[in-house]
Amino acid sequence: MKQYDLFERIEKQDAIDILNGQIRTCRGCKLHITRKHALSGEGNIDARIMFIALAPGIKEDAQNRMFIGPSGQIFNKLLMASGIDRKLVFMTNLVKCMLPQNRKPEKDEIKACSQFLDREISIIRPEVIVPLGLYATQAILTKFHTESGAAGLSFSKMNGHLVISDRQKIFPLPHPAALLYNPSFESSTIDKYKKLHSYL
Ligand code: SF4
Repeated sequence: MKQYDLFERIEKQDAIDILNGQIRTCRGCKLHITRKHALSGEGNIDARIMFIALAPGIKEDAQNRMFIGPSGQIFNKLLMASGIDRKLVFMTNLVKCMLPQNRKPEKDEIKACSQFLDREISIIRPEVIVPLGLYATQAILTKFHTESGAAGLSFSKMNGHLVISDRQKIFPLPHPAALLYNPSFESSTIDKYKKLHSYL
């Protein structure tokens, strides 16, 4: 855990509370029409590790909680197997509102929502950002101006490897939902998640 003085921590909590209020009432793109809840980030505001998933699933949308559906159960299993306590991390989504029928996010939706993710990163100031899956990874690599074509590498080659750009550590990992379709990748995925342990 990071160390702060009391006032800095109160300021940080206030900033995240204000931001969460803005997310909850946002109508910045058409996804507000089909959502029940716009999900703000959840977890430890002093976290060294910030996970960024794609978007809330149907259960998360209904109950207004991060990672409680089938992907969330796999996420918990991956964290447990990797020795990472969920209480020590911060979790959020690239797109804060559910994507109907689990469709892909559109560019204008990612763009409209990026202000919230940018703000979460600047408030939490994680040592390591962990984008989960292709879309979150592309967005984070672009935000931090990765060099040498890192943003152009295929996700399968990139995940599980640390990238440092603009002095930010970025560690792309497979999205837990990928194991719903390819359970045979479980042990290799756990091995990749285990590499995060050194940042706790
Ligand atoms: S996806 Fe983001 S920009 Fe679009 S309505 Fe939801 S919170 Fe607003």
